[in-house]
Amino acid sequence: EQAIAKGRRWALHDEEAARAIGQKQNLLVELEQAIEFGNIWTVYQPKWNLREDRLEGAEALVRWEHPERGIISPEIFIPILEKAGRIDELTLNVLKNALDDLSIWSARQSGLSCSVNISAQLLGNDAFIEKAIAMVGAVNTGDGHVIFEVTETAALADLQRSILALKRIREAGISVSIDDYGTGQSTMSYLQRLPIDEIKIDQSFVKTMIADDSNRLMVKSTIELAKALNLKVVAEGVESQPCLDMLSGLGCDVGQGWHISKPIPSEVFERSWLKAAATTNLRMLRWSG
Ligand code: C2E
Ligand code: MG
Ligand code: MG
Ligand code: MG
Repeated sequence: EQAIAKGRRWALHDEEAARAIGQKQNLLVELEQAIEFGNIWTVYQPKWNLREDRLEGAEALVRWEHPERGIISPEIFIPILEKAGRIDELTLNVLKNALDDLSIWSARQSGLSCSVNISAQLLGNDAFIEKAIAMVGAVNTGDGHVIFEVTETAALADLQRSILALKRIREAGISVSIDDYGTGQSTMSYLQRLPIDEIKIDQSFVKTMIADDSNRLMVKSTIELAKALNLKVVAEGVESQPCLDMLSGLGCDVGQGWHISKPIPSEVFERSWLKAAATTNLRMLRWSG
């Protein structure tokens, strides 16, 4: 009897697994079509300079609206593309959008930066790196205004290879940021060896830092570490004014999060954040946005 029960459970499990795999294959086909037909677009989340109280730039985040299922999170479809070895195409699309938009922004307000997320495996893809560098080189936004965000686990997986790729990227005038910092197993010695410009403290620490002592300590010590290593430090997941104030007090350079702005379409970014940012304060921008 037990054996039968167990057998049934396995059968069920297999069925579910098969369905999940089938769904993923469907999604992949649909994604490839969406990329081909341009049904993928890019939104921007403003980054706020906490020291100088001004707009710093934005992070480009990819969006996909499935015809039946609605908006699907990049946390679901990015890994599917990565596993299928098809993340290069999507990333070049996002980079193209970001560079087009950044060109408009820099013409209207100089000094803004735009960050693009680069998957782990792309650091090992020389053809991709060269294409990306050529694209950035073709627009004139000034050194350091295009930022590639790489997760720390990505950079640490194959340290030697990552160091070479990151060096090449920085030589081309592109800045490098370590994304989701604190979720992997970075240590100071690793961080020192990576040719990078910026650390982004993961939102899981930032969101909870007001109430949670150990997460606050994590944020505080990461800011100190960044200062010691001469790196810019960005906090993501800033969800409230008290959190923003605390980060400013701790000497954090830049904040990003829902309290400042949710990710928005480029038209909204241009209308509500450009130019106005040079003359108004964050509180006013938040109301008008
Ligand atoms: P990420 O690069 O760490 O981006 C930050 C994520 O946090 C974004 O989610 C953003 O919408 C969300 N977020 C921003 N502020 C807040 C906040 O105050 N509170 C909370 N709870 N969340 C906040 P999103 O857009 O869903 O992207 C998720 C992840 O997908 C990104 O994490 C990134 O790893 C990946 N991703 C997004 N676009 C791309 C892309 O073009 N290429 C690659 N390779 N990955 C991407
Ligand atoms: Mg990012
Ligand atoms: Mg992040
Ligand atoms: Mg993340």
